[in-house]
Amino acid sequence: MATLDSKLVGVLGDRTAKVLRDLYGYSTIGDLLHHYPRRYLVRGELSDISELVEGDEVTILAQVFSATSRRLHARKGNILEVVVTDGTAKLSLTFFNQAWREKELKVGRQGLFAGKVGVFNGKRQLAHPDYELIPDGSDVDSAVEGFAGKYLPMYPASAKLPSWKIAQCIELAIGALDEVPDFMPDWVRTKYGFPSLHQALVQLHNPADLNSAEKSRQRITFDEALLMQLLLLTRRRELKELSAVARPEQDDGILKKFDSSLPFQLTGGQIAVAQEIANDLAQPHPMHRLLQGEVGSGKTIVALRAALTVIDNGGQAALLAPTEVLAAQHLRTIEKLLGPLAQGGMLGAEENATQVTLITGSQSAASRRDALAKAASGEAGIVVGTHALLGESVEFKDLGLIIVDEQHPFGVEQRDALKSKAVNPPHLLVMTATPIPRTVAMTVFGDLDVSTLRELPLGRAPITTHVVPVLEKPSYLDRAWSRIKEEVAQGHQAYVVAPRISASVSEDADMDFLMGESATTMASVEELGPQLQSGALTGLKVAPLHGRLSAEEKEATMRAFSHREIDVLVCTTVIEVGVDVPNATVMVIMDADRFGVSQLHQLRGRVGRGTSPGLCLLVTSASPESAARERLSAVAATLDGFELSRIDLEQRREGDVLGVSQSGGKSHLRLLRVLRDEALIEAAREDASTILDSGIESHPRLVAELAQVQADATAEFIDKA
Ligand code: ADP
Ligand code: MG
Repeated sequence: MATLDSKLVGVLGDRTAKVLRDLYGYSTIGDLLHHYPRRYLVRGELSDISELVEGDEVTILAQVFSATSRRLHARKGNILEVVVTDGTAKLSLTFFNQAWREKELKVGRQGLFAGKVGVFNGKRQLAHPDYELIPDGSDVDSAVEGFAGKYLPMYPASAKLPSWKIAQCIELAIGALDEVPDFMPDWVRTKYGFPSLHQALVQLHNPADLNSAEKSRQRITFDEALLMQLLLLTRRRELKELSAVARPEQDDGILKKFDSSLPFQLTGGQIAVAQEIANDLAQPHPMHRLLQGEVGSGKTIVALRAALTVIDNGGQAALLAPTEVLAAQHLRTIEKLLGPLAQGGMLGAEENATQVTLITGSQSAASRRDALAKAASGEAGIVVGTHALLGESVEFKDLGLIIVDEQHPFGVEQRDALKSKAVNPPHLLVMTATPIPRTVAMTVFGDLDVSTLRELPLGRAPITTHVVPVLEKPSYLDRAWSRIKEEVAQGHQAYVVAPRISASVSEDADMDFLMGESATTMASVEELGPQLQSGALTGLKVAPLHGRLSAEEKEATMRAFSHREIDVLVCTTVIEVGVDVPNATVMVIMDADRFGVSQLHQLRGRVGRGTSPGLCLLVTSASPESAARERLSAVAATLDGFELSRIDLEQRREGDVLGVSQSGGKSHLRLLRVLRDEALIEAAREDASTILDSGIESHPRLVAELAQVQADATAEFIDKA
């Protein structure tokens, strides 16, 4: 008899085993049994097409009436539309990029079709339905009778391996399988009334009824969540065991001096988060904390206080920024906030004063030498930089804290490279302005503790956002330019954001692909700047800013903008993160539908940073009913970053967020969806914690399963790298 680890070859034979390996990478029975059905065809529960209601999951018995495929114009790909009829009415079935199905869905063929009823252009349809065709020449009634069991599982299938063939393979595999030992602790299984692993696998593929299929699905989804949380919590516990230098707050030092020099009061949120960080830093174990807070919520000061705490204990802090513009800006901001406290080493400097220095890839040899020397000697208490900080020549006297601003460009490896510059593991603070729903934070950053700044500092002016639909209301765009002129007349400044740098050359191949033929019509900085300068914004000082300028040019432009020598900055998303010019009050975003929801939210955070109200105008030529317009309306309707990041996540595939493909291969997250399964993930987290507390060693099968998941995850990671 076979186990989950038995090779498929032994059960299915060489040819079929090879097809499964080539298509999905499956080699064992376990791999195959984790290919789950999407739905079940229920015998005897067929619907009439004329009675279909939008949103229902249905199965119909129908005949192919016509099939046509066509290319898409706006992007690469094709659509196959198949019209079927059951005598009562007609229904369209649509398939994206699956033209191969045209060969089997021939006019006149009969079959069972299953899917969720949708409506498009007023017509009911099934998008990507599952189906089972009735073999040519066989009598329909007996063919339908002949389907094994009452519930026929419908699998994700392909031209090479149709659903019924997969069903056959799985039937053979289950037939050969011994009782599968369960790795789930009994108490967990009892708590939720889950079936055993063996039962769950059998019921999922060949259910006695839909209820037991559902229970089995829940059990296996829970397995995924539990194993993932066990891995994350284990890693977190291991990190907590590491030793680090404790850096408790001192009563007397640069931190206290800084606090008393601050021209404003910290918000309640800042105080609470600062306390969490201070508690972490005082431990002899490294802090691993994520600080999330809306743009403008005041993360920088919180991070700076952490740096000063470390300095008071004789250590240094490194601040990693994603771009040179931001690194330079951080340096300026920190020097300004510290004032005389940043003049360490100068004649007549304040006691406890330190120095802040900058290390970037494009700085001159002389300033780099100077910065390297200060980092190595410890004279610089704070070293700000880009990824250049990770370079081999960079040494610290005593690196005690790493602050990462905007985590996205920095992976775990980069963090590790920087950590290697410290004698003991340093404390780590990751800052992000992209709010992350709790469960996503728990999954993606499961090894980090999370602090959240929810309130904005008092006196912050609100931001109003409007959609400017150029197709329907061309005159609104002129109004947008007049608004910029009005704001500038009142002494304020503006941003105009475009999705690309130049008209002809793309800086981003993905963008080209996504945008297809319409790419050439998209607004670009290089075209828009001169157009505005000589047209709608004549008389104002307009300047471009984008990633293709040299570091000096970017730096000079930003400086000029913050000194009000420029009225309007025409730019790409270089300004997306962190740029802080409180005097800028309007932002016009061209082709706003080209940006993601969270990105738009980040962008508009650049205005309304001072005491005057901010205005953000989302210019679009998307049609009123389109999904793109819906997204823009959502951004206009709320300033709640958490809500927007949810919308963003729901629209993107969650797999992209998690950095794992959930579509196939050996990924262990097949059924689990971070947002949909929030409650389940929370429950799994608690159970995982209980299991670890009471000693996971008493569950050897769970330990073995976990090791397997870990090994597969590592393999997948290495494959990607
Ligand atoms: P974030 O990095 O979270 O986007 P910043 O730290 O850059 O936000 O803060 C935005 C602005 O608000 C800065 O100009 C900062 O000096 C100011 N600020 C921060 N905390 C407060 C506070 N408690 N009261 C008033 N202003 C504050
Ligand atoms: Mg910031």
